[in-house]
Amino acid sequence: MKKITAYTTLALMGLLLTTGCNNAKESHNTENHPKHWGYTTDVGPSHWSELSKKCHICSEGKLQSPINIVASSHINLPPLALSYTTQATSIIDNGHSVQINIANGSTFTIGADKYELKQFHFHTPSENNINSKSFPLEAHFVHATAEGKLAVVAVMFEEGESNPILSKIWGKFPLKRGEKIDFTLTPEDVNALIASNKNYYKFTGSLTTPPCSEEVKWHVIKKPLTISKAQVKQFFDIYGHTNNRPLQNINKRVIEG
Ligand SMILES: [Zn+2]
Repeated sequence: MKKITAYTTLALMGLLLTTGCNNAKESHNTENHPKHWGYTTDVGPSHWSELSKKCHICSEGKLQSPINIVASSHINLPPLALSYTTQATSIIDNGHSVQINIANGSTFTIGADKYELKQFHFHTPSENNINSKSFPLEAHFVHATAEGKLAVVAVMFEEGESNPILSKIWGKFPLKRGEKIDFTLTPEDVNALIASNKNYYKFTGSLTTPPCSEEVKWHVIKKPLTISKAQVKQFFDIYGHTNNRPLQNINKRVIEG
């Protein structure tokens, strides 16, 4: 298995998101202008693989995310072993999404591995599709082990009632880009953003942002939560464009669920 470096974990945690495909040496070299990526024009998803050698996997990888999820293996998966017991401590608009950071101690156990919840953030519209259906919003709960193994739990939002927890988060908009500010959500609030962890799809994928690192364990909850039309617009208006990577090829992957 490809070794995932601590650098990847850092990138995933949003600390190096604007220089995701530079190597660590480059990103510390102040004489190099950071290479930016985005969702539009000449820095959009079709150009991510050109950012650096490390980013070639964005176009060459066989386990890229997001995908159109169609279950290929129907088995009874156990409920996700999530234990979200700590609060959110800060919020940041990192230029690509709005990210809520979580205090250490919330975990996701997979087999013998304990993954720690680092942050969650949003994409509009959804990145993954379920049976060819797109949703207006998708939340990604990002977890990492001490060794840098990565796992994501994704939650879809469909149009309906306004979501009270999203209201608390959206209430902080507009955020000053790149500036982390104090923000509290209780563990109950964080748990309320996951409707049910009993039914979900499971497959192997990648980060959906540069450097597109693979071997990320994806878990997409089947039951969507609701979001109002106004809430979707409020999030979209932060950037004035969508922030979802296009669907990638499934190739030979098995999707359990
Ligand atoms: Zn994401």
